[in-house]
Amino acid sequence: MQTNFTLAQLADPDTKVSEKILRTCVHCGFCTATCPTYVLLGDELDSPRGRIYLIKDMLESGKAATEEVVTHVDRCLSCLSCMTTCPSGVDYMHLVDHARAHIEKTYTRPAADRFVRRMLAAILPYPSRFRAASLAAILGKPFAPLLRRVPPLSRFAAMLELAPASLPRSSSVNRRQVFPAEGGRRKGRVALLRGCAQSVLDPGINEAAIRLLTRKGIEVVIAEGEGCCGALTHHMGRTADSHAFARNNVDAWTKVIDSGGLDAILVTTSGCGTTVKDYGFILRTDGTYAAKAARVSALAKDITEYLEQLDLGAPKRMDRPTVAYHAACSLQHGQQVKFAPKALLAKAGFKVSDVAEGHLCCGSAGTYNMLQPAIARQLRDRKVANIEATGAEIVVAGNIGCLTQIGKGTEKPVLHTVELLDWAYGGPIPRALSSYVLSR
Ligand code: SF4
Ligand code: SF4
Repeated sequence: MQTNFTLAQLADPDTKVSEKILRTCVHCGFCTATCPTYVLLGDELDSPRGRIYLIKDMLESGKAATEEVVTHVDRCLSCLSCMTTCPSGVDYMHLVDHARAHIEKTYTRPAADRFVRRMLAAILPYPSRFRAASLAAILGKPFAPLLRRVPPLSRFAAMLELAPASLPRSSSVNRRQVFPAEGGRRKGRVALLRGCAQSVLDPGINEAAIRLLTRKGIEVVIAEGEGCCGALTHHMGRTADSHAFARNNVDAWTKVIDSGGLDAILVTTSGCGTTVKDYGFILRTDGTYAAKAARVSALAKDITEYLEQLDLGAPKRMDRPTVAYHAACSLQHGQQVKFAPKALLAKAGFKVSDVAEGHLCCGSAGTYNMLQPAIARQLRDRKVANIEATGAEIVVAGNIGCLTQIGKGTEKPVLHTVELLDWAYGGPIPRALSSYVLSR
């Protein structure tokens, strides 16, 4: 694609990167067929190619974002399915990240939109605030159908609907500490991201990861001061916030690396994993942090990438339900981790079914299911129908957002890959599976 940026515009490092990305797009349109919003809405401007043109015009003009650009960029899930499909290797992720930051800087959203976004950015990344808000949402759940009938309040209805029926107790694994390797001989040392929303909604996921790793001789560190990875605010274009979160985690893990070393930084929420792996790029122009961030990103791994390298031995459970594996977009498209979770589940003895249209997003996408509830619901229903068609007894995924989203549309137990693996290799029954196993 030909571009027309001035030399002054190209002096900006973000514009320079975007110009390079735009030049790689040959507007072939292959990406449109696998873009969830194009598949649903059929509008070229809601396809990757259409958005690329809109972003190009916006950045080249150097003007404030228009309502049209904002509408179509906001509808993008950042699922990155287009990147998996694109034969030219267009780096859509960094292009749309730049577009979102430009929109945030130059466009004044309607007051209600601004309020919702500020509220999400002020609550979600902070576990204690998120816990308090979730408890309030549980109480407010009965009002969701009423709110849904009033279009300006539909986002609040979506938030109430997404709230769980109850919250698990806060877990001791959410504190800074070291979990020693079992069995006397340490075979490895990793840090585990505690995260924000997941640590409140389902601390059982990290509990399972820690049990499984320490049983296999791996020491697990929860670093002091580590917190939200910054993905939620990054996808809202709130660059200052997301960069501050990234720097905070780089500092926390650098201290651990410098005092004993780390083999990997493990992430059990794939949406966060994609962002931690991108810290090196995000902080590339920060003289103080660039090298440290690149080191952190190089160590970052999804939990299944790391488990795949370990000898987990023979599984201990024989009563293994059939599993529908939902590939989270951040894992399959964002990190290109496609086979490790399924291979691990198969090795543990589970019969794993692929889900039709597995490349399409479930509609979760960070804060998307709260900001774009109508599209998110359509995608969820389509995903759940494809999952139900497999006939599998349970649903497994590697991202808390997907687990929450899909769990709202099906009666089947929905749980994280690592919870199922921990159970198969001798751990306790995961919370989501206990009633299912008892009723068998
Ligand atoms: S598939 Fe790639 S090169 Fe083709 S239009 Fe889409 S982004 Fe551009
Ligand atoms: S990231 Fe997903 S929703 Fe956005 S343009 Fe690409 S395929 Fe479409």
